[in-house]
Amino acid sequence: MITLPHFSGETAVFGLGQSGLACVDALMLAGCDVVAWDDKPTQCDMAAKRGAKIRDLKQDFGQPARLIVSPGVPLTHPEPHAVVVNARAAGIAIMGDMDLFYAGLQLWQADNPQHHVPVIGITGTNGKSTTTALIGHMLTHCGWMPQVGGNLGTPILQLDMPQADSKTAYVLELSSYQLDLNDTLACDIGVLTNISPDHLDRHGSMAGYVAAKQKLFAHGASDMTGIICVDDDESADMANALAQQGTRVIRLSSTQATADIYVTADELSGDVGTLMRLEFMASLRGLHNAQNAAAALAVGQALGLNLADITEAFIGFPGLAHRLQPIVRFEGLTFVNDSKATNAEATRHALAAYRNIYWIAGGRAKEGGLKGLETSFASVRRAYLIGEAAPQFAQQLSTMAPHVDCVESGQLENAVFAAADQAMADNLEEATVLLSPACASFDQFDNFEARGDAFCTYVASWKPQQGGGM
Ligand code: ADP
Repeated sequence: MITLPHFSGETAVFGLGQSGLACVDALMLAGCDVVAWDDKPTQCDMAAKRGAKIRDLKQDFGQPARLIVSPGVPLTHPEPHAVVVNARAAGIAIMGDMDLFYAGLQLWQADNPQHHVPVIGITGTNGKSTTTALIGHMLTHCGWMPQVGGNLGTPILQLDMPQADSKTAYVLELSSYQLDLNDTLACDIGVLTNISPDHLDRHGSMAGYVAAKQKLFAHGASDMTGIICVDDDESADMANALAQQGTRVIRLSSTQATADIYVTADELSGDVGTLMRLEFMASLRGLHNAQNAAAALAVGQALGLNLADITEAFIGFPGLAHRLQPIVRFEGLTFVNDSKATNAEATRHALAAYRNIYWIAGGRAKEGGLKGLETSFASVRRAYLIGEAAPQFAQQLSTMAPHVDCVESGQLENAVFAAADQAMADNLEEATVLLSPACASFDQFDNFEARGDAFCTYVASWKPQQGGGM
């Protein structure tokens, strides 16, 4: 648990999911006067058990000295949440758990001036979790004690305090929602994997989304390092703006050979030539994962790690569930769970990573649906469409990729069985049944994890029909 300073006056916490309850815990431990609210009574009960006062902060805001909100609470779009309106009317600071974390870390640094604990923040539309996990894995392999969390896994305030006699580093995955709230957190190293349109409803526009991502770098010290994949215009602009301010920027690219790290699916190279070959890194398959590896490599080098150790760490990286995760192989047919591909850009990389794809897609579509995938369907043999997006995707595919047969399967279960049976009947040497939905899951599942787990269950229960063979 992060030890916070004592904040005087009442601290209001709105939103009592995992990270909100962690805020309550940390604030109570620091002896603060905490009032909390969540529209779900069960969550209020949990905060009450921790000693917080319970008050409906929408109806009866009172006079707290500050408001801590969960990242999911809208600040501006589609419209500011009632509790945000109340806080603004009262003229008090609206903070996120990152601000609390940073206050705790600064307190520790003040008491331990001889140690500097690096903070590595990772954001981007896609690749945050993989890059965060890979950096954590790399640091552990190299003898550090990384504290890994934020948007991925452990809420930021539940991470441990640094240990003065060990090499601690904070490796924090930061979503655009969290960054939108960031008024203080200064990273020593900021990693931006990419930017493509996402969460526009919450940020109002692409400009709003980019502005939230930009906050990763907003409070950094003069010796901050920015590691940015510059293959999209927004990220390239951000790299240029940072470099102009004098920040050290390491550019990664799969299109510009002059970048600091040039990325292909097989290799990472720099001005000294090849840095790393990727073909033996089973969990870092595909160009997108090569980009994530390049980002982690740049972090390792910025922290002074040895290239041979970094390479060894990457070879042993187990990968993350629901991201191009091979589930099972039956003769030449591999089943791959990429349920985390909740937008077209993530799916674009998945479609490039395999041959002879029986592709399961759909769910709740993001703005533009399959836009951006126009040239991605060469390896798709058939598409099995599920959920709300099925009619829209069928329509888009009929113009983008008329050669691809579409089956509107409705439910994931039907799609898995139909795709697997068809792959068996086609009898190809190598084929892949790929769940890479390019959609959110919320129309049919609680979240992408539940969707991925359901995929695995259906795959396990699929029985090859008699007479099939690969
Ligand atoms: P995030 O945490 O940003 O959602 P993940 O690492 O969980 O990112 O990956 C989410 C999805 O995006 C997966 O489908 C994965 O295959 C794909 N992906 C991972 N890294 C990248 C990248 N650098 N560029 C584009 N897509 C990526």
